[in-house]
Amino acid sequence: MTSQKIRQQFLDFFKDKQHKIVPSAPLVLKNDPTLMFNNAGMVPFKEYFLGQKTIKNKRIADTQKCLRVSGKHNDLEEVGIDTYHHTLFEMLGNWSFGDYFKKEAIDWAWELLTEVYKIDKSKLYVTVFVGDKQDHLDFDQEAYDFWKSHIDEDRIINGNKKDNFWEMGAQGPCGPCSEIHVDLRTEEEKAKTSGKDLVNKDHPQVVEIWNLVFMQYNRKADGSLVDLSAKHIDTGMGFERLCMALQGVTSNYDTDVFTPLISEVETITNHNYGKDNETDIAIRVIVDHLRAVAFSISDGQLPSNTGAGYVIRRILRRAIRYGFTFLDQKEPFIYKLTKTLSNQMGDVFPEIKNQEVLIHNVIKEEEHSFLRALDQGLLLLDRIIDNTKDKNISGGKVFELYDTYGFPFDLTQLIAKEKGYTVDEEGFNTHMQKQKERSKAASAVETSDWNVLVEDEEEEFIGYDNLNAKVKITQYRKV
Ligand code: ATP
Ligand code: MG
Ligand code: MG
Ligand code: MG
Repeated sequence: MTSQKIRQQFLDFFKDKQHKIVPSAPLVLKNDPTLMFNNAGMVPFKEYFLGQKTIKNKRIADTQKCLRVSGKHNDLEEVGIDTYHHTLFEMLGNWSFGDYFKKEAIDWAWELLTEVYKIDKSKLYVTVFVGDKQDHLDFDQEAYDFWKSHIDEDRIINGNKKDNFWEMGAQGPCGPCSEIHVDLRTEEEKAKTSGKDLVNKDHPQVVEIWNLVFMQYNRKADGSLVDLSAKHIDTGMGFERLCMALQGVTSNYDTDVFTPLISEVETITNHNYGKDNETDIAIRVIVDHLRAVAFSISDGQLPSNTGAGYVIRRILRRAIRYGFTFLDQKEPFIYKLTKTLSNQMGDVFPEIKNQEVLIHNVIKEEEHSFLRALDQGLLLLDRIIDNTKDKNISGGKVFELYDTYGFPFDLTQLIAKEKGYTVDEEGFNTHMQKQKERSKAASAVETSDWNVLVEDEEEEFIGYDNLNAKVKITQYRKV
């Protein structure tokens, strides 16, 4: 089944259950000082959960563009190394605002996965919140009983507060959750270790696909919990992981969400995917990051030197560096993938098609300037090496390369090693630490997914009002 069809079936399923289907809200949040990017399906709805706004449609479903590269949810370092965490991904979600609750959320999730998508029940595990003494919360017996009517009891796993109690801020609506995990290992592997022991253990083929949150409490300022008068459902399913499960593959990168992009990288760089671990990581990083950067640009967030723009610039530079080091790409090439991405995603996310030329040009220019900096950095590194007498390059010099030319430590280390030199890592780290302290002092820290600030009734809800707004490009300047 194609990813297009998988996405459509999710939306159709919930449409049949009287949900209003809405388009994804933009990736970039402009009116939320606590969060740079949308990092979960519920983010655009938070005013409704907080009771600051009333909603017309009590049942909603969508696919939401999410970016997990900063703050509480930061998966960046895993991306490319593993095969199921992305920077940008789609989160399929269904919501009930004071309408249906646990029973329907569980019954429908099960119906969709096992009857519509026909995932074999013997591949699924579910988790249930075990309770918490400090919060005087009991085991989630209700959820357990609903699951029990669908799945063998030995496939229901107790989950602790960390994994199975959702709360995003110090205050506000919260509640237990149940997660659905899928075991995609071979029968032979399954015979060796029970899938039950691998749930939530970072196994690349035993992965969480869907989180069902049952918002039933409100945490008050004093930390105590009270029952919410209106209970809500908030679910999030990783679209690319679902595609992996349904397309009979064991990596998100082997689904049709990624294969067209990977083929193109193979053609452009003359390196094949699936032959060598380092090359594979580089290719995964490039196709993943291309998506993140393209979607951000199409929502108006261009690479820059500050804030969210800097996060985007760093993501793109990470991709350029992997291409430079492992795929021998000394000239811009990532921008060439824009067309394929636009053909693939343009129907569902028209902003990608509408902004195709801009995405293409911005990425190309960024690649140019960063590759030039890399070149200059290389020349400087040569000079540093010539002037280094003891075969150990000082941490201060390595930091200068990093700070002035964006020349990453591991690249310096790699080149130095090739020439028989070592680098003073400790000295570099000391400089890094000092810089971090400086920038920490200068910027607010993102600690949670939402904070209760002022309750401003007049404030516009950016998620909807801006959906059809044309992206105004004011931030871009040549570097
Ligand atoms: P994980 O434990 O795998 O990191 P999570 O518990 O952080 O996932 P949730 O916040 O519960 O994820 O998000 C809901 C769903 O979104 C997950 O069940 C998963 O399918 C998907 N998801 C989460 N993070 C990513 C990511 N970085 N890339 C792709 N899909 C993701
Ligand atoms: Mg996570
Ligand atoms: Mg998890
Ligand atoms: Mg989860």
